[in-house]
Amino acid sequence: MADTIYDVAILGSGPAGYTAAIRGGQLGLKVALIESDSVLGGTCLHVGCIPTKALLFNAEIWDHLKHAAEYGIAGIGTPQLDWAAVQKRKTAIVNKHTEGLEFLMKKNKVTVVSGFARLTGLAKDGIHTVDLESATGEHSELQAKNLILATGSFARTLFGQKPDDRILTNIEILSLAAPPKSLIVIGAGAVGVEFSSIFRSFGSEVTIVEFLPRAVPVEDEEISKELTRLFKKRGIDVNTSCTVTKIEKTESGVKIAWTTAAGKTVEKEAEKVLVAVGRGPRTTGIGIEKTKVELDRGFVKVDEAQQTAEPGIYAIGDIVAGLPQLAHVGAMSGIVAVSKIAGRAYRPVRRDRIPGCTYTDPQVGSAGLTEAQAREKGYAVKVGKFPFAGNSKATIVDSHDGFVKIVADAKYGEILGVHIIGPQATELIAEAIAVMELEGTVDELMFTIHAHPTLSEAMLDAYAAVKGMAINA
Ligand SMILES: Cc1cc2nc3c(=O)[nH]c(=O)nc-3n(C[C@H](O)[C@H](O)[C@H](O)COP(=O)(O)OP(=O)(O)OC[C@H]3O[C@@H](n4cnc5c(N)ncnc54)[C@H](O)[C@@H]3O)c2cc1C
Repeated sequence: MADTIYDVAILGSGPAGYTAAIRGGQLGLKVALIESDSVLGGTCLHVGCIPTKALLFNAEIWDHLKHAAEYGIAGIGTPQLDWAAVQKRKTAIVNKHTEGLEFLMKKNKVTVVSGFARLTGLAKDGIHTVDLESATGEHSELQAKNLILATGSFARTLFGQKPDDRILTNIEILSLAAPPKSLIVIGAGAVGVEFSSIFRSFGSEVTIVEFLPRAVPVEDEEISKELTRLFKKRGIDVNTSCTVTKIEKTESGVKIAWTTAAGKTVEKEAEKVLVAVGRGPRTTGIGIEKTKVELDRGFVKVDEAQQTAEPGIYAIGDIVAGLPQLAHVGAMSGIVAVSKIAGRAYRPVRRDRIPGCTYTDPQVGSAGLTEAQAREKGYAVKVGKFPFAGNSKATIVDSHDGFVKIVADAKYGEILGVHIIGPQATELIAEAIAVMELEGTVDELMFTIHAHPTLSEAMLDAYAAVKGMAINA
């Protein structure tokens, strides 16, 4: 390895790193992918996107089974939840895709290197040297013309508490021996509300405590309001504008205290507490200070090609300043970085062209500007809203809560934002992104034929609603 000089060495094999590695291989670059964990795939594959969505699918099936008789399925009796089988299925999905990644690395001639990587300083004659520490503490060196930092993120905790079997982060909660009887979730961002949704379906008594005034605070205000309403309908206790002041273990669980906006102190005990208060960048202890790479509160500052202030060093994924921490953003930022390294054409990642998906029941899918953001930017805004209650497919799939909201520019009818809450919102949002990429307008979309009966017809009705002409409401 010491004699090889790679075109690019990638530090971290999460969705950002592995995508960059594959595209690098496709572009003919000599790529090394360095991973400190024993498996490829990072947070997303092992303790993030994939296992949570596997559990959410189980939760959905379980919820449907509760209404089996209504769907004409008799003879089921009382369904029993086999938690061990649920976990087994989740693990099998993760393993299948881990193997898939190993195959893709071979297919694309990517050299996978095991070890914890650290930068050693400035490049010499255009060559960067990385220190590699093996699991047993031995050190070696790897050289590359370009480096891509893709070290990802970690779950932040509160009051310096370390996670354990009762105070949980996304890692511990994914391997519980049984669904808890009661669960307090601190934080109502995507991670917090997804776990709330999962465990509520499996029968846990769920309480959410959020510091900001609304759940899913990055979403359009009407989406937050609707999700809160529907969560409450599902029996989830949602508390916003609340500051957690204490987390302490009791004999059988965990007690937390919080202060409400009105200054009242509330205490509640639960079997488990999930701390989902955001994710910090893994940028310490990797030698960044030995380079000119600039940080903003620990996140790496990059230009349009994902290049840092140090020539030849790029950063992608969750560690990048100013981009949402999402797997697909990481993956695309990786494609941009290797395209630039290979001297190929690329399109920078645009902050206003990123789908945001929250896989709760009901799902949330959004893209572009919220209504408030569009107004703040000075647009004359026109809004079209269509409820799933008016969509026949939504009734067929027994899921007619929620709506599609279109935020359009009044002057030209350009679609500025799309906000969906309801069935398959995370799939429907793909249309919105394509439309926005192509700068579609309300006039064009009102005449775009959507198949019947589909959930996507709710999009057509919502575009038409911008002009007050939805057909089905
Ligand atoms: C519960 C949960 C659910 C989520 N669900 C979704 C979802 O549905 N959709 C979505 O888009 N996003 C989701 N996310 C976010 C998503 O997981 C992250 O955005 C994504 O994993 C970031 O990818 P990354 O490659 O930047 O980093 P990571 O996936 O964190 O990978 C970084 C990798 O780098 C390795 N590494 C770190 N330091 C070093 C080093 N010095 N040397 C070598 N290797 C190193 C780590 O071991 C790790 O494997 C979820 C996150 C969580 C926690």
